[in-house]
Amino acid sequence: MKFFIRYVFWSRRRNPKSAMELTLFEFHYRCKNCNNEFDVLDLPPEGTYGEFIMYGQNGEIAYWNGITDPVFKEVSKFTNSLTPLADLDEIAQSSAFLEICGVCCDLAREGSVFRVRPSCPDCKSEDIRLLREIDPQHGIVVDVPCITHNTWNRLSQEEKKQQLLKALKEINM
Ligand SMILES: [Zn+2]
Repeated sequence: MKFFIRYVFWSRRRNPKSAMELTLFEFHYRCKNCNNEFDVLDLPPEGTYGEFIMYGQNGEIAYWNGITDPVFKEVSKFTNSLTPLADLDEIAQSSAFLEICGVCCDLAREGSVFRVRPSCPDCKSEDIRLLREIDPQHGIVVDVPCITHNTWNRLSQEEKKQQLLKALKEINM
C-alpha cells in the first residue's frame, strides 16, 4: 500500500497541473501465478461509468475519464471499425478496446503500457483474484496524474491504425 501512495505523491510533485483529486479505495488481490498478495487503489465500483484508473506495471496509476476525453471516443470508434472488430457486437468490441486502450496513452514512467487492469507487482501477471472488497468507509483522497496522449497525437492515421492492429493481434483478435 505505502508504495502506491508514495508513487502518487511523487507524481503530483512532478506534474501538478495534470493531476486529479480523487477518492480511491483499496482493493486487496492475490496473484494466481506467484501467490503474492497486494493492494491496489481503484475507483469505487459503482457510479464511475466511463472513468478508469489505469495501471503501469510497477504500480504507477493514472486517471482516465473516457466520457470527457475526446480521444477515448475517437479511438474506440476507430478501433471498432477495424476488420478484427467490425463484425462483432458492441459488448465484444468494447471489451476488446478496453484490453488495448492503453495504446493511445503515453507510457508509464518505467516504460510499460497503461492497462485498465492491475498486474502483480512481483511477477507482472494479470491473472489476479480480488480477495477483499473495498471498505466504503475508508476512501483515500489522492492526486492522480491524468492520462495523456502526446505520443499518440503525433502519429498519422495510418500509424495509429497499425498500432491498434498490432495491439489487437497481441490479444488474439
Ligand atoms: Zn505474481
